[in-house]
Amino acid sequence: MKVAARGRISPEEIQDFLALDTAHVWHPYTPAESGDPPLFVQHAEGPYFWTADGRRFIDGNSSWWVAALGHRHPRVLHALQVQMQSLTHIALGGLTHEPAILLAKELVEIAPTADGPSENKLTKVFYSDDGSTSVEVALKLAVQYWAQNGRPERGTFIALREAFHGETVGATSVGGIAAFRQVYQRMLFAVEYVQTPSSNSAEDISAAVDSLRKLLRTKQSQIAGVIVEPMVLGAAGMKMYSPVFLQAIRELCTEFDTFLIADEVFTGLGRTGRMWACEHASVVPDILCTAKALSGAMFPFAATLASQRVFDGFRGGRERAFLYGHSYCGNALGCVVARAVLQTLREENVLAAIAAKSAKILHAMNQIANGASDMAPRALGMIGALELGHTGYHSGRGWMVYREALARGVYARPLGDTVYVVPPLNIQDSVLDELLTALAGAVQAALRA
Ligand SMILES: *Cc1c(COP(=O)(O)O)cnc(C)c1O
Repeated sequence: MKVAARGRISPEEIQDFLALDTAHVWHPYTPAESGDPPLFVQHAEGPYFWTADGRRFIDGNSSWWVAALGHRHPRVLHALQVQMQSLTHIALGGLTHEPAILLAKELVEIAPTADGPSENKLTKVFYSDDGSTSVEVALKLAVQYWAQNGRPERGTFIALREAFHGETVGATSVGGIAAFRQVYQRMLFAVEYVQTPSSNSAEDISAAVDSLRKLLRTKQSQIAGVIVEPMVLGAAGMKMYSPVFLQAIRELCTEFDTFLIADEVFTGLGRTGRMWACEHASVVPDILCTAKALSGAMFPFAATLASQRVFDGFRGGRERAFLYGHSYCGNALGCVVARAVLQTLREENVLAAIAAKSAKILHAMNQIANGASDMAPRALGMIGALELGHTGYHSGRGWMVYREALARGVYARPLGDTVYVVPPLNIQDSVLDELLTALAGAVQAALRA
């Protein structure tokens, strides 16, 4: 077992810590009276974490999708250590620094591109703290753009029916998953929804496209933008849709001259097998949000990329400025972490190895489903998922798999009835095999129970 800097912790100490946890720590997405105590984690490295009692687990969901290069990647740690010697944070108002400048340049260099007017290129980077704030930035940019460029009535967004865009009030408003928004309904702003195609058939796709077109036609004067999770609705249960639909959304946004906002917080930086999920459809959004993987599983960090056109809409006097910015905007440590993540993706050829791993994941999902088409086994890049039923987010089925997986050394939290894996992109093949075998065993055990 790896021993943390603090040294081994005795079983009695662990119990004391867990008692304090019960007394004072309010856990996310966890019922107040959930039966199972949390695992007491002491160390994490690569695709693994270790609990203080010496057990090793594979982090099957990359710690809620952020540890895309595993835990404590040496390049990322090194970048942090070096940066800490000179500058950890400085306000970005009237000040700037090398990490913020170079990261912005590198993000722009790898941003989705296509031929077309140069004003449509993603050329500007606005930093914030996490996925939710990167979405807030996107929404406010869009609304303010129209407000000061002759279309002040454009303040409404179109979102996908089962989208998830984060936890803050604006991000929750454009989200569509009932379980996450019902209680807060009275504090959310109104949004227009379109259904994603119910299948990849041409008819279903064109029905979804038609309903979006109709919505844009009737509400055009009010629409500030269309916000999407490209290719995969993550929190809704890894629901994947056709690139043809994404392409059509881009075309309609262009036709009706409204902004396409791509929330790549989950899908970005290789998760779907391409650098950006938008690339599956050769789509360039007007605004792109990135966080999770960008933060290297170190601490919150995010960026919102905007096109030159969006930025140009803020030129002019002081009253046209984007009056927005979080305390840690452009944090220097966050910037070097993100640069190290990009460098690692590049120099360790992480994306090139994904196709083979993705095939393994799809094969495993198919094997687990064993012909049961209602389990809808599927994979895209380093995402694999299947369904255990249709009883919704609060279902117990997924949690049975969760417990069975833990017993087999794998951490794989479900999304309701959806069981999924989102392992580190650079997970070694042997560890991926181990993860998938354990998951298969866990599903079988849960279905037998
Ligand atoms: C996780 C997620 C967010 C929110 O990110 P946080 O870092 O949790 O605030 C936003 N959009 C998508 C698509 C996500 O998956």
